[in-house]
Amino acid sequence: MSNRPQLAPYASRPEQSRGRRYPEEVPRFRSEYQRDRDRIVHCSAFRRLEYKTQVFVNHEGDMFRTRLTHSIEVAQIGRTMSRILGLNEDLVEAIALAHDLGHTPFGHAGQDVLNECMQHFGGFEHNLQSLRVVDELEEKYANFPGLNLTFETREGILKHCQRDKAKALGELGQRFLANTQPGLEAQLANLADEIAYNHHDIDDGLRAGLITVEQLLDVALFRAQYDEVQRLYPDISGRRLVHEITRRMIDVQVTNLVTTTQANIERESPASADEVRALGCSLVSYGDQVTAYNLELKRFLRHNLYRHYRVMRMTGKAGRVIRDLFGVFLETPSLMPPEQLQAARLLEAQQGESGRARAVADYIAGMTDRFAILEHGRLFDPAALT
Ligand code: MG
Repeated sequence: MSNRPQLAPYASRPEQSRGRRYPEEVPRFRSEYQRDRDRIVHCSAFRRLEYKTQVFVNHEGDMFRTRLTHSIEVAQIGRTMSRILGLNEDLVEAIALAHDLGHTPFGHAGQDVLNECMQHFGGFEHNLQSLRVVDELEEKYANFPGLNLTFETREGILKHCQRDKAKALGELGQRFLANTQPGLEAQLANLADEIAYNHHDIDDGLRAGLITVEQLLDVALFRAQYDEVQRLYPDISGRRLVHEITRRMIDVQVTNLVTTTQANIERESPASADEVRALGCSLVSYGDQVTAYNLELKRFLRHNLYRHYRVMRMTGKAGRVIRDLFGVFLETPSLMPPEQLQAARLLEAQQGESGRARAVADYIAGMTDRFAILEHGRLFDPAALT
């Protein structure tokens, strides 16, 4: 059997791309989406994902997922499903690797506080920031700002968007106003993200001792796989037990998502990626049973892991670091390094105080966990070296 992926009629085709913001020659040896993927891998925001975390702070231990390993897991799960469904793997991979580029240090805690800080200046949303990174902030090419990615990759990066913000995004924002869908690769990458974090958060949470296997037995999806693994390997325990369970849980989700999506595609039979976009509902979805499993799992993680007192302590500290940095830089932009100061002056000249605040938010959002902590020390700890 050939292992070469065949593109289905409803897959995104690079030769039919809606193109880049700044026209470029067609790449000689790669497809347009391979080029997008490669530009993402070579950008500076991508490297910094290694030192940013979602639930844990980067210095808490070397064993936990970082945003970089998370993004690679999303790409892996997404590519597997993409190949079975006949979608464009290169595009799924590009979206998966870029989807978290705009995340602040300290995960969701960081984003929530930065959003609060920015509430009078247009707000802060990590999803929009990922787009801003690839459209504006990366400085790599002589002819254009950002990475000049294709419409389809940018469409996938922008998972959600409020209507007022969508209006400013032209063609890219259109679907949020018209309530239509992105291409299937974007839909798929979005759910691959969820499959990845639900399961690695279980793994990391157990490793950190914040949750236990006994607690997880109340979660139906976990319990079913636990029973199966115990039946097959009655003596298994520890890390092997956990991994045998989580890998089966991922398999249940992937299998269900693929078969449900195949049935949805058959029902709607879209003849092209644009026909997928015109539909009022997402074709990539789970069946009812797995949707219910997922809700239960997410509820468990929210109550027992994300709101664990040790996580909340870290969240509180992270919030204070972000708030302090934002306040001091907004008041005195000249305390930022020259490049960021220049950006602040430029944006302030164009948009007033909101522009200055945006430059401060860009600087803070781009920081890694450890850099934010260091920078905070340099500004607030009298004994620290500046
Ligand atoms: Mg993610």
